[in-house]
Amino acid sequence: MNWYTEQWSQNCRFSIAYDKEIYSEKTAFQQIDFYQGEEFGTFFTLDGLMMVNEKDEFIYHDMIVHPAFATNPGIKKVLIIGGGDGGTAREVLRYSSVEEVVMAEIDERVFRLCQQYLPVTASGVEEDSRMELRFEDGLEYVRNAADQSFDLILVDSTDPISVGEGLFTTEFYNECYRVLNKDGILINQHESPYFAEYAENMKKAHRKIKTIFPITHVYQYHMPTYPSGHWLFGFASKSFDPLKDMDANTWNDFGIKTKYYNTDLHKGAFGLPNYVKEALK
Ligand code: SAM
Repeated sequence: MNWYTEQWSQNCRFSIAYDKEIYSEKTAFQQIDFYQGEEFGTFFTLDGLMMVNEKDEFIYHDMIVHPAFATNPGIKKVLIIGGGDGGTAREVLRYSSVEEVVMAEIDERVFRLCQQYLPVTASGVEEDSRMELRFEDGLEYVRNAADQSFDLILVDSTDPISVGEGLFTTEFYNECYRVLNKDGILINQHESPYFAEYAENMKKAHRKIKTIFPITHVYQYHMPTYPSGHWLFGFASKSFDPLKDMDANTWNDFGIKTKYYNTDLHKGAFGLPNYVKEALK
């Protein structure tokens, strides 16, 4: 029995048994390792941190995408920053109403290797005619993108370390604001309230976003393989409110079958524990 172990904090580790290490590569940006195990199926890590696995990826990819569409069913043009495993793009492409999806992922090797070893998230993405793949820094991409050119930006990034750092800066959030149209919504991977290091990242991100967007919320979901399992997304918006404007009937009319998301859970997800509300003040 081999064990993959991630350090969740100084004094806490998380381990997953695996049968074999499928593939390993040091790209220009990060170390990618693919494993195969009983409990979580195929999974991959970047610089030793769990990214995506077959068992719980549905939770993350439902929750990064569907709350925005239930709030604004009219979303047509979507920008994904990061998201190299393809899972976020897969969920966006399920909306026939979506006309254009751009994915700005800095490391092409992540996407190519997921096409090969993690088809559950990556297959069918490149083949969709609405998809534009750009293998470049997401911060660079938004710097050069036109004003008011997207309805939705999904920041599916790693943590604010190494290449991911630029995606947690005030400059990046300001550029996202400029690139979003008047109904624009920004969803960002918003870390976690539980362990100190992640809680610090959460507070910093929220503080910056709050100074830029008029409507800012945070919503939670249970993500077993991320540190503590208690994980968040940020919901920043120029006009739509995720609770007041969420239209359950319209979202249900899309007929999109999901394993995790539903419009009742949508409302609940924005209800946060007191200690989290305190930390976000
Ligand atoms: N769901 C995972 C999580 O929450 O940690 C992240 C999914 S995806 C694997 C994260 C992606 O962000 C990686 O493929 C990484 O290459 C990409 N990434 C990191 N920094 C980036 C940047 N500055 N611009 C674009 N993509 C970036």
